[in-house]
Amino acid sequence: MDFLRAAAHKLGVDLDENQQAQFERYRELIELRSKQFNLTGLKTWEKIRNELFIRSLRVLSPAGGNVPTPEWFTDKRAIDIGTGAGIPGIVLKIALPELHITLVDSNQKKTNFLTEVVNALELSNTKVINGRAEELAQQNDHREQYDVVFARAVARLNELAELTIPFANIGGTVILPKSHGSEEEVEEAAAAAEILGAAPAITIPVNKPGNSPPDDMVYWMKISSTPDKFPRSNGIPHQSPIKSR
Ligand code: SAH
Repeated sequence: MDFLRAAAHKLGVDLDENQQAQFERYRELIELRSKQFNLTGLKTWEKIRNELFIRSLRVLSPAGGNVPTPEWFTDKRAIDIGTGAGIPGIVLKIALPELHITLVDSNQKKTNFLTEVVNALELSNTKVINGRAEELAQQNDHREQYDVVFARAVARLNELAELTIPFANIGGTVILPKSHGSEEEVEEAAAAAEILGAAPAITIPVNKPGNSPPDDMVYWMKISSTPDKFPRSNGIPHQSPIKSR
C-alpha cells in the first residue's frame, strides 16, 4: 500500500485513510472474485497494484502542453468504456472522489462485480451500466454527454474511435492508455477519428509512476458533432472499422 501511496503522491494525489481502505477493499474483491470467474488475468497483489492500480493512475500524469492536468479532472463527467474489473474507472474514482463516473461493460458478470465494488466502497456519483458502447452512444442520455472518455485494452484505435468519440461532448477529451509504440495504430485510426469529430490525436509517452512497461496516452479532443449514423450496430466497428471518407 505504501508503494501505491507513493505513486499517487508523485501525481499530486495524496490518498487519505479512507481512500487507502477503499483500495484495500477493492483489491480484496478482485482477488476473491477472480478466483470465481474470468475477471482479470492479474491475480497477485503485486500485479494488481502495479498493472491495474498504478498503471491506471498514469492517466493523471501531468503531461503538459495541450492535455489535461490532474486538477482538470475534478468534478468532470467521465465514462469508462469496456471497464472490465474497473480499469481505469474505479481506480480513478478512488483517487479523485469528486469525479462523476459511468462504468460500461457488456459482460454481466463484470458489471455485477462492479456494482458489488461500488456498494462495498460506498462510491458516490458512480454508475454501472451493463451494455454495449455501440447502443449506449446512440442514446440521448449518453451521446455527447461526457467531458472525458476512457477506454483501456478494449480494441485497436481504429475500432475504439467509434466506441468512444461519440460519448464525448464538444470540448471533451477521449483518453486512451496504450502500450508505448502506438504511432502506427494512431495513424491507422486518423481518418476515423476525424470523421467522428475529433481533432488530430495528441500522443504523450508516459512511463511513470511505477515500473510497468512504458505507455502512450492517446488524446482525442472532440471539436465537432459525431454524424448520426455513428456508432454503427453492435460488432460493425470491429468487423469493418471506418477507413476513410
Ligand atoms: N479496461 C479493462 C478491461 C479490458 S478487457 C482493463 O484495462 O483491464 C475489455 C473489456 O471490454 C471486456 O470486459 C469486454 O466485456 C468489454 N467490451 C468489449 N467490447 C465492448 C463494447 N462494444 N461495449 C462494451 N463493453 C465492451
